[in-house]
Amino acid sequence: MAAEVPLYAGRTAAPASDDPEAVAAWLASLPTIGKRELRRGFPKSIVRTTCDLKEAMQKGLVEIIATSGTTENRLQVLWEWSWWDPQEREAMRLNPIVRGAMAASFKEAVLTTPVCGGATCHIGTLSRAERTIDGMLFLNQAADPTHWTDAELTRMLDEWNDLGPDGVEADPQYLGALCRHAMRRGVTMHSPTFATLTYEQTTRASIRAMKAALPTMGAFNLYGATEAGVLFMECDKGRLHHNARHSHVELLDAGGGLARVVVTTLGRTWMPLLRYDIGDLVRLADGCDCGLPDEGYVLSRIEGRANDAVATPRGLFTPAMLDDIVDGADSALEQWQLQGAADGFLLHVVGSDGVQSATALAAALGTTVEPRATATILPEASGKYRMVRPQ
Ligand SMILES: [Zn+2]
Repeated sequence: MAAEVPLYAGRTAAPASDDPEAVAAWLASLPTIGKRELRRGFPKSIVRTTCDLKEAMQKGLVEIIATSGTTENRLQVLWEWSWWDPQEREAMRLNPIVRGAMAASFKEAVLTTPVCGGATCHIGTLSRAERTIDGMLFLNQAADPTHWTDAELTRMLDEWNDLGPDGVEADPQYLGALCRHAMRRGVTMHSPTFATLTYEQTTRASIRAMKAALPTMGAFNLYGATEAGVLFMECDKGRLHHNARHSHVELLDAGGGLARVVVTTLGRTWMPLLRYDIGDLVRLADGCDCGLPDEGYVLSRIEGRANDAVATPRGLFTPAMLDDIVDGADSALEQWQLQGAADGFLLHVVGSDGVQSATALAAALGTTVEPRATATILPEASGKYRMVRPQ
């Protein structure tokens, strides 16, 4: 494959054998690539010379979509449903609760950034029928939950309860906001069997809102990226298992039990990735006793974007580690965002005055953290929230 893709031309040829050790040694000898390399010369540099992109696009086999990453993280991606769907479903089925629900004819709803709901785009006022694709109901019409009016939230709750989904694919922050609205209004939500949480980092506050409104629902992280596919799926023991048939993953040691995720995609016609550094940090687990076959790495959790981790003389604090401290100090808060300041940080907090969290964070980081109560935290243009931002 490598020789056919301009971006990888000049790399050492792959070993002739499929011996896993030989393949791993070959991969380790190659340079990693990042978003910058994927952007450069897109799409030509990432298309096999034997493939005709124009023809494939005309036939509707592949399309160009923009990912929903935060602004500097945005990418264009060659996206094919015939690749995305099977590898996502296979990842979901790693979890026995999800697999059980999917075995029956099941009803599914989606609550995430409408701009990145796969091949579809749902912005503007559309009828419920127009937002239903292959039986899947796309609930929201505006990417930014801070612009969800009461009427919009109520419509979503009504549609949720009317459909009675068995499974929901959700951005955790969005589902958290809907659950909080239901709790405030005293509306009982139909409980799906499961929710797969994806698109952005899951916070403790969003899980707390889900547990309050949907106590019997299983909420599982589905970790991946539009450009790379679904890499890990959370099991019913709270660990994340590698979706091993669709990617080769390398975890590069980042110290302190953390690792960077480097992915090589398998079996993909368009936009094959070779040692792509996805830009996130994860924490390794020592296996899992849930009974899933041991096919690859097991993670204890996703730690968040490496660019959003805070480096201090006391070590590196990932978004998930910051969330432990901020949320651990104050279970009333709904959302937070840490912002760099001249001599420390500002901690913006929704749902609380933020004093306890700022004090706890200042003690942990060894710097000044000023609390700032706020009514809302704005997401990026992409609809995703950034947990840590520079000044
Ligand atoms: Zn497990």
